[in-house]
Amino acid sequence: MSTLRFKVVEEAFCKKPLEVPQPSKRPSEYFGEMVFNNEKMLRYLPGDVYRKLTDTIENGGVLDRSIADAVAEGMKRWAIEMKATHYTHWFSPLTEGTAEKHDAFIEPNGRGGVIEEFTGKLLVQQEPDASSFPSGGIRNTFEARGYSAWDPSSPAFIVDDTLYIPTIFVAYTGEALDYKAPLLKALRAVNKAATDVCHYFNPDVKKVYSYLGWEQEYFLVDEGLYAARPDLLLTGRTLMGHESSKNQQLEDHYFGAIPPRVQQFMKDLEIEAFKLGIPVKTRHNEVAPNQFELAPVFEECNLANDHNMLIMALMRKIARRHGFRVLLHEKPFKGINGSGKHNNWSLGTDTGIGLYSPGKTDNDNLRFVTFIVNTLEAVYHHNGLLKASIASASNAHRLGANEAPPAIISSFIGAQLSKVLDHIENSNNDDLASFSKKHGMKMDIPNIPELLIDNTDRNRTSPFAFTGNRFEFRAVGSQANCASAMIVLNTAVAEQLTKFKKAVDEKIAAGTEKTAAILEVLRDEIKDSKPIHFEGNGYSDEWVAEAKRRGLDCESSVPLMYDSYLQPDSIKMYEDMGVMTKKELEARNEVKWETYTKKVQIESRVLGDLSMSMIVPTAKQYQTKLVDNVYKLKQLLPADKFNESAKKDLEIIDKISGHISYIEERVHDMVEARKVANHIEGNRARAIAYHDTVAPMFDEIRYHIDKLELMVSDQMWQLPKYRELLFIR
Ligand code: ADP
Ligand code: MG
Repeated sequence: MSTLRFKVVEEAFCKKPLEVPQPSKRPSEYFGEMVFNNEKMLRYLPGDVYRKLTDTIENGGVLDRSIADAVAEGMKRWAIEMKATHYTHWFSPLTEGTAEKHDAFIEPNGRGGVIEEFTGKLLVQQEPDASSFPSGGIRNTFEARGYSAWDPSSPAFIVDDTLYIPTIFVAYTGEALDYKAPLLKALRAVNKAATDVCHYFNPDVKKVYSYLGWEQEYFLVDEGLYAARPDLLLTGRTLMGHESSKNQQLEDHYFGAIPPRVQQFMKDLEIEAFKLGIPVKTRHNEVAPNQFELAPVFEECNLANDHNMLIMALMRKIARRHGFRVLLHEKPFKGINGSGKHNNWSLGTDTGIGLYSPGKTDNDNLRFVTFIVNTLEAVYHHNGLLKASIASASNAHRLGANEAPPAIISSFIGAQLSKVLDHIENSNNDDLASFSKKHGMKMDIPNIPELLIDNTDRNRTSPFAFTGNRFEFRAVGSQANCASAMIVLNTAVAEQLTKFKKAVDEKIAAGTEKTAAILEVLRDEIKDSKPIHFEGNGYSDEWVAEAKRRGLDCESSVPLMYDSYLQPDSIKMYEDMGVMTKKELEARNEVKWETYTKKVQIESRVLGDLSMSMIVPTAKQYQTKLVDNVYKLKQLLPADKFNESAKKDLEIIDKISGHISYIEERVHDMVEARKVANHIEGNRARAIAYHDTVAPMFDEIRYHIDKLELMVSDQMWQLPKYRELLFIR
């Protein structure tokens, strides 16, 4: 009998919620308490230093080294008052997580004691031993220098006893080895391009911000059950497990009452998030059992992204306090929904205008249409690249399944907006030009209601949907760093707006009136970007066929999706916008292919180990019991009775034999396929081999394991079952 499984199930079932005390202060009173934000800068920095620093933050320039010491001194004073003893540069290397190395503030004072010290030099730049971070060959291990440099646009914060300083991470030779450095460059590019285009409509705009509001989905599993599932522990997902008889079919979990133990976890998480200045706002049950969602109010993209990285770390930590493990994997369980991270994205000006919000005047509406159409055009031209930006070994289980956007990027904009674009496309050029000349700014754009009603009833099957005042990129994976998608999206829109500006300016220079010029260019773009525009059901088979006809990227193999990064027009886009060089793109692809291979390799090993050391022996044990039973029946019963009674057992014995031999053979084949793949030279080719020859065996082997789970006595089955993992909370 499997005592461990029953023990952990019983323990999990009996756990009481850990009551989190209500803070004595209101959230507005302790929000940002642990952040070196504007209020603290004012308090801890000399006036001139404060002004120079806020100027750097606002305008994105390089930090004036002459003030670095004063900033460091102020930060240290605050940190020590907050009882921090250590500091760390905090960055996002090309792995899924973040990296930190803590140093104490102490320095010897020369008389056998220590003093607390923190200089500008330590704040601004450090040289972590970077040899173990992925670099895609940019650094040789003997020349492993990489350095981290402070990003003043994301404020420092304290967790436990440590001051965290958000930084970029770059090679000694200047190439980015992280997500933040290219993200900041992409944001700079879109700021420049969008500000220039805004000037057609409003000369006062000085800056355009990119905004991100992420929605984080996740599962919670009791930690005892989790520990008894080596596949969850090592790969983040279950590699086997028969569906529970009850799943999500009653739709009783979505928006349902939050279970008390989970509620306490959420409360704890929110209190910590508020202290760290993360404006978490929404919490609810998601569709699948034990699946939940957390969403903040949107923020400037770089800050929002740091906050998402931070919240994922916080979730992992706080879940443990409550006896849970949080699963951020995109598809931890077969047969029920996986987890995504919708990226709500928009642009807005320093004058407070949301560029994807229609306005009251013709001028506002033309500006609105301009940004919509250029975004569609950008997404159209780089649809393969956008898909590559969200592709990973784990997200691949979600894309294309009937719960998430398909592995094809398209955009839904709603009936009202579609009508507006159709109208612009079909209106007569000459008419429009003379019309707008005669009427000044007045144009023949149908009135766009300020509230785009049909976008409240959104098309959930669209991977890139317009939702009233923003686009929602839904294909992003739950454990991904949003920066990957945000780098592509912002760069692509920056490139497209730059092209648009050039085309309009050329027409104006040739004598066309400004509004007419804008409309003419928009009309061409509306026509050109048609293939990306899709209002129908993205989950249907017809759409796949239709998307192929339209020439959209329909590649479904993750290693091949990554090729998009190295297409000439992608490289050109990144280089023209000053975001990444060809060398950086190549290096990052090496990392992506290698990561893909490693993930599939680990899953394959775990599946093989569990099959041979747990599943097959358990099945054989049960089979032996049945055989014993048959023998005993034979001794006991007269022949005719025996034949009748033993028939069922003999059938099961035979079926078990069949499943066992299939599993044994397939695991052997899988090991052989790995050996062949491991000998292939080159990260790309190896990843392709893993995708084509190793990964497909997972489901085949699993099928037989899951059949055994249904046959073998529940008493003997060792791995916690889906009904236990998903319904105990
Ligand atoms: P839903 O689940 O209906 O899509 P949520 O309320 O869960 O909506 O999340 C929507 C997210 O979109 C929130 O983070 C919200 O702040 C963000 N958001 C709203 N308006 C904008 C905008 N203009 N730009 C970027 N993000 C936005
Ligand atoms: Mg959403």
